[in-house]
Amino acid sequence: MEIKKGIAVSPGISIAKLLIIDSEDYRIPRRSIMPVQRTAEVQRIRNAFKDAIGQLTELEAAQDDTEEGKIKDIFAVHLRFLHDRSLRKRITDLVDSKLVTAEYAVSVILREIASHFSKIKDAYISERATDIYDIERRLLRQLLGGKREDIEHLTEEVVIVARELSPTQTAGFNRKFVKGLATDAGGRTSHTAIVARSLGIPAIVALEDLTECVSGGDTVIIDGNRGIVIVNPDQATIQQYEAYSREFLLLEHRLDEIRTKPAITRDGTKITLLGNIEFPDEAELVLQKGGEGIGLYRTEFLYLNRKSEPTEKDHYQAYAETIGFLKQRPVTIRTMDLGADKYTQSKRFAPEPNPFLGLRSIRFCLQNLTMFKIQLHAALRASVLGDVRIMFPLISNLQEMKQATMILRDVMEDLDEESIAYNKNIQIGIMVETPSAALTASTLARDADFLSIGTNDLIQYTLAVDRGNELVSALYSAADPAVLRLIRTVIQDAHKAQIDVSVCGEMASEPEYIMLLLGLGIRTISLTPPMIPEIKQIIRSVTIQDCNNLARTILGMNTERQITRYLRDATQKILPEAF
Ligand code: PEP
Ligand code: MG
Repeated sequence: MEIKKGIAVSPGISIAKLLIIDSEDYRIPRRSIMPVQRTAEVQRIRNAFKDAIGQLTELEAAQDDTEEGKIKDIFAVHLRFLHDRSLRKRITDLVDSKLVTAEYAVSVILREIASHFSKIKDAYISERATDIYDIERRLLRQLLGGKREDIEHLTEEVVIVARELSPTQTAGFNRKFVKGLATDAGGRTSHTAIVARSLGIPAIVALEDLTECVSGGDTVIIDGNRGIVIVNPDQATIQQYEAYSREFLLLEHRLDEIRTKPAITRDGTKITLLGNIEFPDEAELVLQKGGEGIGLYRTEFLYLNRKSEPTEKDHYQAYAETIGFLKQRPVTIRTMDLGADKYTQSKRFAPEPNPFLGLRSIRFCLQNLTMFKIQLHAALRASVLGDVRIMFPLISNLQEMKQATMILRDVMEDLDEESIAYNKNIQIGIMVETPSAALTASTLARDADFLSIGTNDLIQYTLAVDRGNELVSALYSAADPAVLRLIRTVIQDAHKAQIDVSVCGEMASEPEYIMLLLGLGIRTISLTPPMIPEIKQIIRSVTIQDCNNLARTILGMNTERQITRYLRDATQKILPEAF
């Protein structure tokens, strides 16, 4: 039995067999081979091509001919590439001449070709680079074979253990079987953590070397309340945890009972509790847990667990499904936040050196107008189905916000020309996630219908601390005085401009920050659905007067440690179970 300690990012207990997976990012290091290994490597390449061709032929045959042949066509293109003898020759020549492994040669040659395609001005041809990356992945999957495990075809409950998980991987999990997550890397607001919380499965990150200490098939206990992973527990420990898990479920059940009660403070102030979602079906969970709408719909997840880019119809269907659950309650569609750790890097020939400071989010959209307009068209079309709002992420200056709004107006004109109905008065808001947006909130607020503070990014950009890097996770804190001052500024500026302001970062899901946020003037909170009952319980136990006093005291403090301790003590008095 071995016990490892990490950061608890999603509560709950899980006991299951573990499945180790490694990164979907098939970047292969250069490895040399001995001259005598040449023939074997060349044979491996032949086998990989043969198996990939076999798979694709089966996939192609299984496709429906009626669907305008689209998917079938993609497979046919991939097959043509794989049948091309000159491609195989370039790869085997590289193994021969440079004495490198088959996987390295495949990766180098295919990335060279993809790069060549992506530089061609014609959009149709440049987009073929994506096909080449897909072919590369398929070949590498064959070459790396049993070293990788397949998470798409699970048949029993597992806990996933990985060095780190990309949003694409977490989005593709079969939720029926994945019962817990544990990663070597990551922080509280890394996307693994966010997805795990949304799915309501326990998760622990920053376990440093867990993947080196376990083998696939080991039994593990994931204690997402305390941040502990127990590898190969003895019988007594399993029994103890089974009992603890039952107690935890009872507590959750008890809190669930308050779901139908309003989120009103003891002195009568109504707080609006909304949910953050990644997938349409989570909208139902928001309502089950007592939420009143969606404050953040992370629509980029629509791109992450599929083989091809979503069409306008795919967007519309996802929004319509979500609105179908919510009826006339608010649904805030956050336009796609791709880039950084999501989606775009694997499609680039050379990854960006600083992706979180790079072509991410609204910046990516403003450079990929076709994609952006498809989403806006669908969101506007869905706007007549309920109370839809549109929110632009990672706005860092007024010009960017004006540009995004202008594109939205362009799409509105297109809809007018097509005689398609949409809500002409749709609310348009922005996320405040950068210090520059926070410091100019008074200007931005003049052109926005609402602001939503994205503390996950605001913290990382304010403190220069990567939100997913376990090495600096101790420095990542919403309780830092610099972060709190920016939050206060944004709230004050929104109040002056008389527009709504909410918090939708993970800070709003953490019990210890609720009194402070209320004291700073927040009246709308959007959070991960499973935490709604706990947060509601806190709201119902406090008065605004208490919260104002607490906020005043906190703003007079100068260190994160002092603030954290004070907030924990204050919250513990109200909801001891939260700790
Ligand atoms: C945030 O940054 O706080 C936020 C809510 O957006 P995301 O976590 O999706 O980056
Ligand atoms: Mg963000």
